Amino acid sequence: MEKFIDRLRENGLKVTPKRKAIIKALFEAHRFLSPEDVYAAVKKTFKKASFPSVYNNLETMLKVGILHKIDRPDRRLYYGLCRSGLKHHHHVVCIGCGKISEVAHCPLPHGRTVNGFEVVEHFLQMEGVCPDCRKKARGKSVSEK
Ligand SMILES: [Zn+2]
Ligand SMILES: [Zn+2]
Ligand SMILES: [Zn+2]
Repeated sequence: MEKFIDRLRENGLKVTPKRKAIIKALFEAHRFLSPEDVYAAVKKTFKKASFPSVYNNLETMLKVGILHKIDRPDRRLYYGLCRSGLKHHHHVVCIGCGKISEVAHCPLPHGRTVNGFEVVEHFLQMEGVCPDCRKKARGKSVSEK
């Protein structure tokens, strides 16, 4: 968790107790959380915390790459800690438990022209089933038989 707090400093952000609490909530969850989930966790320590202040802190940490926004088919917003310090990378999200993993290898070519468009940026999020969830699923199907 210290690593993420160091990254606040590296990016010139103040290490406030609230930012620490947000990082802690996401760190301990080991999965992506909605702003409401983060707010509920922060509230346990900071009874007077307001939702807009938690949301603003999430957005600030997102801008400097400490957090990542995760898209879900439910169209709600989620945030997760970004473990990678790499500028360009992607994430694979477990549809079972919400775990996020960093993918350093980018499968898409950069600086290429597609349909006459010179591609300057792309956003890609992969979804899958993590090893733990696959193990659980296998265990279940065996015991059900
Ligand atoms: Zn990341
Ligand atoms: Zn999983
Ligand atoms: Zn890429």
